[in-house]
Amino acid sequence: MLDNLPRSIRIVEVGPRDGLQNEKSKVSLEDKFSFIKQLSAAGLLEIEATSFVRAQKIPQMSDGAELFNLLKNDNELKKTKLISLIPNQKGMDDALKAGVEDIAVFTSTSNTFNQKNINASIDESLQRIKDVMDIANKHKIRTRGYISTVFGCPYEGSTSLEELKRICHFLKDMGVYEISLGDTIGIAHPKQVCNVIELLKKDFKLDFFSMHFHDTRGLAMANILTALELGVTSFDSSAGGLGGCPYALGASGNVATEDLYHLMSSMGIETGIDIKKLSCASSFILSKLNRESPSKFLKAYLSSGY
Ligand code: MG
Repeated sequence: MLDNLPRSIRIVEVGPRDGLQNEKSKVSLEDKFSFIKQLSAAGLLEIEATSFVRAQKIPQMSDGAELFNLLKNDNELKKTKLISLIPNQKGMDDALKAGVEDIAVFTSTSNTFNQKNINASIDESLQRIKDVMDIANKHKIRTRGYISTVFGCPYEGSTSLEELKRICHFLKDMGVYEISLGDTIGIAHPKQVCNVIELLKKDFKLDFFSMHFHDTRGLAMANILTALELGVTSFDSSAGGLGGCPYALGASGNVATEDLYHLMSSMGIETGIDIKKLSCASSFILSKLNRESPSKFLKAYLSSGY
């Protein structure tokens, strides 16, 4: 065990979108811009920056076009991939006008979750993705796919692996460059991670996947290590562990980028992260939210310096 570890991993930082969207306090446009710049300066070169959604539906993301305009004109961000989440064709049209080059589309392996989240069945959501990606592909915009509830659904319990495979094939055929597999309610365990990866490995190369774990019940590190051991080298995480869990009030959601960094760097695996700068970026945004980080490593690092 652990004799086949990679030299480096890729991290997709989701704090500014997935993280902030699940935080109650509203963050100003200027603070979001500063946060993203600090993350990029800390070595995070793929950042889910914002989304193009209806302002009334998700007030925290109502400044997507304005934020993107600031970001795309910033010289220091030229090498940073800035991803915008797109829910439908209207969002795609707005994103196109704003000049985005990277988007993400999303669905879930659970019909009930999709209905509650976006008022669509799985198949209706795939049709929306097709509508979005027909435009994206025409304009050579790169698309990342998200699949939620891969390891369990708050409404349906366990979800179908056959459905997961079907959705992965659909997204691949549509042209996504990568699929992020989400443990939306933080319920996954290492044996399950193993089962999912072994199944998908039969049909896809593993570098087609990024694992999106939540630390709601404390197993994110164990799950990441399991995926790493099986050959996955891309992970989503959120600076400071931003974003609570809407399905378990008061619990943590996204695994913290600092904890992911620590797991990797302690084993000599390169992440490209400057931890001092990252801890400053996280402290900055957490102070704006007036809350503490759930990251064990960040807490230790801020008090001890290592
Ligand atoms: Mg998440």
